[in-house]
Amino acid sequence: MLELTIEQISMGQSAVDKPAALQLLADKLVADGLVAEGYLAGLQAREAQGSTFLGQGIAIPHGTPDTRDLVFTTGVRLLQFPEGVDWGDGQMVYLAIGIAAKSDEHLRLLQLLTRALGETDLGEALRRAGDAPALLKLLQGAPQELALDAQMISLGVMAEDFEELVWRGARLLRQADCVSNGFAALLQQVEALPLGDGLWWLHSEQTVKRPGLAFVTPDKPLRYLGQPLTGLFCLASLGEAHQALLERLCALLIEGRGNELGGATSTRAVLEALGGELPADWPSARIVLANAHGLHARPAKILAQLAKSFDGEIRLRVVESGGLAVSAKSLSKLLSLGAQRGQTLELVAEPTIADDALPALLKAIEEGLGEEVEPLPAVTEAAPQQAPAVKAPKAKPQAPRTGAQVQGVAAAPGIAMGPAHIQVLHDFEYPQRGESVALERERLQAALGQVRQDIEGLIQRAQAQAIREIFVTHQEMLDDPALTDEVAARLHQGESAAAAWNTVIEAAAVQQEALQDALLAERAADLRDIGRRVLAQLCGVPTLEEPKEAYILVMDEVGPSDVARLDPARVAGILTARGGATAHSAIVARALGIPAVVGAGEGVLQIAAGTALLIDGQRGLLTVAPAPEVLERALADRDRREQRLQAAAERRMESAVTLDGHAVEVFANIGESAGVAKAVEQGAEGVGLLRTELIFMAHSQAPDEAVQEAEYRRVLDGLQGRPLVVRTLDVGGDKPLPYWPIDKEENPFLGVRGIRLTLQRPDVMEGQLRALLRAADNRPLRIMFPMVGSVEEWRQAKDMTERVRREIPVKDLQLGIMIEVPSAALLAPVLAREVDFFSIGTNDLTQYTLAIDRGHPTLSAQADGLHPAVLQLIDITVRAAHDYGKWVGVCGELAADPLAVPLLVGLGVDELSVSARSIAEVKAGVRELTLSHAQQLARHALGLGTATQVRALVEKS
Ligand code: PEP
Ligand code: MG
Repeated sequence: MLELTIEQISMGQSAVDKPAALQLLADKLVADGLVAEGYLAGLQAREAQGSTFLGQGIAIPHGTPDTRDLVFTTGVRLLQFPEGVDWGDGQMVYLAIGIAAKSDEHLRLLQLLTRALGETDLGEALRRAGDAPALLKLLQGAPQELALDAQMISLGVMAEDFEELVWRGARLLRQADCVSNGFAALLQQVEALPLGDGLWWLHSEQTVKRPGLAFVTPDKPLRYLGQPLTGLFCLASLGEAHQALLERLCALLIEGRGNELGGATSTRAVLEALGGELPADWPSARIVLANAHGLHARPAKILAQLAKSFDGEIRLRVVESGGLAVSAKSLSKLLSLGAQRGQTLELVAEPTIADDALPALLKAIEEGLGEEVEPLPAVTEAAPQQAPAVKAPKAKPQAPRTGAQVQGVAAAPGIAMGPAHIQVLHDFEYPQRGESVALERERLQAALGQVRQDIEGLIQRAQAQAIREIFVTHQEMLDDPALTDEVAARLHQGESAAAAWNTVIEAAAVQQEALQDALLAERAADLRDIGRRVLAQLCGVPTLEEPKEAYILVMDEVGPSDVARLDPARVAGILTARGGATAHSAIVARALGIPAVVGAGEGVLQIAAGTALLIDGQRGLLTVAPAPEVLERALADRDRREQRLQAAAERRMESAVTLDGHAVEVFANIGESAGVAKAVEQGAEGVGLLRTELIFMAHSQAPDEAVQEAEYRRVLDGLQGRPLVVRTLDVGGDKPLPYWPIDKEENPFLGVRGIRLTLQRPDVMEGQLRALLRAADNRPLRIMFPMVGSVEEWRQAKDMTERVRREIPVKDLQLGIMIEVPSAALLAPVLAREVDFFSIGTNDLTQYTLAIDRGHPTLSAQADGLHPAVLQLIDITVRAAHDYGKWVGVCGELAADPLAVPLLVGLGVDELSVSARSIAEVKAGVRELTLSHAQQLARHALGLGTATQVRALVEKS
């Protein structure tokens, strides 16, 4: 991604004219290895087509599309010309930004620059800038307009207290991309200012990307610090952008009109009072942009010029981005949209000019705005508009025939049978234009009412608090004024209820998905969920009746929250077309004890509803409409397994010793301090993995040392002298912390995560270590560091711990690392000299060894920890550890896989750490083995080539 940095800037350049400036730029781009010789011709050709002068003393020379193959690496170089260069028509350039772009990445750069372009004296300031940092600051730090529109206001939100209201306000700011991750936590820490009339004010400058103001009011009267709380302003503050608003607000309060805000029932009224951006009830039109490189400078310029020829306001927005409309007359604003080919532009124009302006603008856009455009693939009228990517048509997969067996991935053990209940996402068909505003409004109300009622039923039925909360959030989403206001505006413009609803929900979901915070981004799925429910009502698609008896839920893929909302009493088993065994949804299924087979292929979605299905979650096997004898065998198998489990459960408190007397410790993985009691009750001989990030995630802000100490103490108390293996905070990658902002990375799985992250935040890590050591009280404590990939990381973490230990002495402490990265396994012979133990995290070790994302929707099925390559790494680790008398545990999901237990024992693993539910079964598995046979099996497995062969080997043995 293109970003501006000081290294790209050359200050104090001079050129007699534009050709000389272009020559300088081309030389620089070539010298820095961005482009091949000959790119200069591209720069010249582009200027010949039209000047790249952008305004405010800036030009952005770049090559033509046919010189793109001369670009080696996308990048920019900035040349400052303090004496100026005439760019034609007397336009003086003080800064030339030469772009070498292989694709349309420079649109991002233009977006960035447009912030600066609003500045009045920027050209002069760029000329005078004394050094590169100052120049960069000018480009990045220009004041921006305060974002304040209907989407920033939520009235009557469900909130129990001040804190919840703050979360809601901060969320609006996040949705509008005003702030980054963690803003809510920052706001919680600043002191709120009472404004009178029950209104409160909070602001922070930290993590602000663009200034914005959110206003939220609670659904019921609240109090805060002994005073009424009727409304809360949350300001993401940047520069002076909010100055004018503050003055208006003060005037309003002095006039005694504060009550109007706290008691407002319409967003429009609040915006009118505050002078924010009012939603326009103007005629609109839409068109899909076909320009190959999006709305870049040249077409945007033509569009802005045409818009300027009309005497009235014209605004434009990109529907898919869910962002705000900008003036179509402003080149910089148009560029700031970053519109790309295939995205839908929506134009609105003042009623007085709309009849002339809209058709003219649409025609100009359709004709390519001065560029030749290749038409977009046709989309049918009725198709939902949201899909940005056009998928190639695929042959419809066939449903597996009666009696067929389909091999999927074993995701959660157990045998289940029942009728298929297929949840497939429908393509809804509906007209874009409505019959009449009143009729469409009525239809929408009826649909919303029905869905509200359905959700209410789900809330009543739900047993678990967590499940109830999901549906309460859905109800809140249904009533969110930010959504309903926008839908109402669209109905006014003549859209059908279904079209308006779908566009608004989809835009909100896209916006939500773009959030860096994975937990918040996951809420996009909830938005789409309620979106579909309402659309189903509007389009008359009946919701499938849930079968009366316990059923097998068949889905494309399931998210963790889909699984969490299942009622284990009704859902006998889960079958998915896509997904893998270490996806978090599979982990949740295991925790709920629902047998699951995942990744069984798209054919399963074609199975007729009600077809009898049999799934074996241990073998990953599906049988469609099984013959009576197959069913009988399965039932017998299930009975046998249940008996085995029953017998195992009875002996769960005994240790796990093989038939030839070799003991293997079986510990528990837990993620919350409360989990320890269940773990001990299920026979855990200790905790082998305390995922402390889950403790951090359970708090709305970073728990301080005292809070952490209490949590860790609770675990140690519960263990009653048994050892505790704690993993230090493992965030980043797929595990974000809402209140810990982490810079967006191209590839977070290979970025700053685990130990890399905590070493960058020694305050957090030392705090955690202090809390752990204080909690220890001479009980057996083992601390391990996640995602260690190098000896230096281990040594830094160890040194930090030793420093803290000098301050807080602990008698029984061991320090180790998790083996989750292949480099750590390969370095085990070196690390083993220094560590006290290793614990192998096979979930991550498998994903990094096989280069398969553990949550990948289609590939993760192949991320099998029994792959011989992973077994080789485990073997290296165990050998190295034992050479130095150190112990090795396995705490990834593999440790609970019955087929893996013999191999891990055979490879010499000393401890298996599994979820509480699996302890008894794993212990029983160990008791059935002899060490010598397990060793033989492991040696044989190391010589095989595939995970399938390894599984077959163990099954046969
Ligand atoms: C692992 O990677 O195997 C592991 C235990 O850590 P987590 O699943 O928490 O990433
Ligand atoms: Mg891990």
